Amino acid sequence: MRKSVVAIVGRPNVGKSTIFNRLVGERISIVEDIPGVTRDRIYAQAEWLTSTFNLIDTGGIEIGDEPLLVQMRQQAEVAIDEADVIVFLLNGREGITAADEEVAKLLFKSNKPVVVAVNKMDNPEMREEIYEYYSLGFGEPYPISGSHGLGLGDLLDAVVGYFPEISDVETKEDTIYFSLIGRPNVGKSSLVNSMLNEERVIVSEIEGTTREATDTYLKRDDQDYVIIDTAGMRKRGKVYETTEKYSVLRALKAIERSDVVLVLIDAETGIREQDKKIAGYAHEAGRAVILVVNKWDTVETNEKTMKEFETKVRSHFLFLDYAPIVFLSAKTKKRLHTLIPAIKVASENHAKRIQTNVLNDVIMDAIAMNPTPTVKGKRLKVLYATQVAVKPPSFVVFVNNPELMHFSYERFLENKIRDAFGFVGTPIKIFARSRQ
Ligand code: GDP
Ligand code: GDP
Repeated sequence: MRKSVVAIVGRPNVGKSTIFNRLVGERISIVEDIPGVTRDRIYAQAEWLTSTFNLIDTGGIEIGDEPLLVQMRQQAEVAIDEADVIVFLLNGREGITAADEEVAKLLFKSNKPVVVAVNKMDNPEMREEIYEYYSLGFGEPYPISGSHGLGLGDLLDAVVGYFPEISDVETKEDTIYFSLIGRPNVGKSSLVNSMLNEERVIVSEIEGTTREATDTYLKRDDQDYVIIDTAGMRKRGKVYETTEKYSVLRALKAIERSDVVLVLIDAETGIREQDKKIAGYAHEAGRAVILVVNKWDTVETNEKTMKEFETKVRSHFLFLDYAPIVFLSAKTKKRLHTLIPAIKVASENHAKRIQTNVLNDVIMDAIAMNPTPTVKGKRLKVLYATQVAVKPPSFVVFVNNPELMHFSYERFLENKIRDAFGFVGTPIKIFARSRQ
């Protein structure tokens, strides 16, 4: 299911990141008195009443040393491309500036729903000045104060009112949704093209679903798949598409809808810091992950090279020890046929359910082999375990006292569960809960 996306657009210093932080509910981006200060996070989940949506702070996409008007235009384009509803933020203490009018023109042409919010209206008497903002042509302007948290409820009511009917594009239970992430030029679009041209793959339509325009549908061996588009796969030549923040934003958006995420690594240039960061997002989101080493055709291979490269990949991606590594070349299609079967296996494992009695047999055998630890004379007692969720598989282990469940013992139990049930490709979660 896709969540609605809301983007905040506005000149530097009008209060975009202040509002973003308020709505996201954590102080995750840096607010300072310096215009255009770097922000850590520009895409995050927010909630209002019963709606959960994703919020973009377009001010966080650093577009470089462009003049203000150019930057504003690009931020507006990001919002138009990525959002379902746009919040156009103005500074109520400065009135409407020429740059605001320029942005208004672009937003108007886009036909996207736009809600005008007039910020820094810290006292009620300032609300008299709101009428000027009707002239922008987007209907009722909402007076707010980001720093005092005023007026945000009314603003959000208006925003949520514009969410598309089925903002949740239908997903089919038995269809596997996957995305490709990785730095620019790692070969994402090449790999998608090669997959679509593979002999046993049929590019298809899936009946009875509301479709997302940028998704690609395919079928192999009677299994339906959907490839979710990521930045860099559909290049349109816009300046902001090459910025790191924008590609992260697109990756997060794609990861969210995926069952399986393919993390691409370039065999030619090797592993970079950015690769780990990107892979980290997929891991944190609890998706199934496959590490794909692309451009394998550029490596002189002998019987040892693959093993050596694998060791290198493993040492860099310790947190992805469950992810299989697939070596291939999108260009020559060498080993390409191994990818879709790996996606299928990872997806099945991500959705796998283990019966409680079978699970408990494994846990009890594990405990018999490696007795539970004692902390200050108290021994951990494991009563029973049960699987509480899939995608990713999540287990609750009922114990006498959760504080006695040491990280290393939890890890031991996880390994035993993995040995017994083979959760290749998926993270699994274990929670210790108290039960007397
Ligand atoms: P951005 O560049 O649009 O993201 O703006 P920021 O969120 O960084 O805010 C710019 C400045 O305006 C900061 O000094 C904020 O503290 C201040 N600010 C934000 N919202 C309000 C508000 O509602 N009232 C007042 N008085 N100041 C605000
Ligand atoms: P993206 O930015 O991740 O979508 O990367 P592209 O698919 O545009 O590929 C970037 C460059 O790498 C292009 O010049 C491709 O031809 C090249 N490339 C992609 N896959 C391979 C591969 O398997 N082997 C080689 N040698 N080059 C590749």
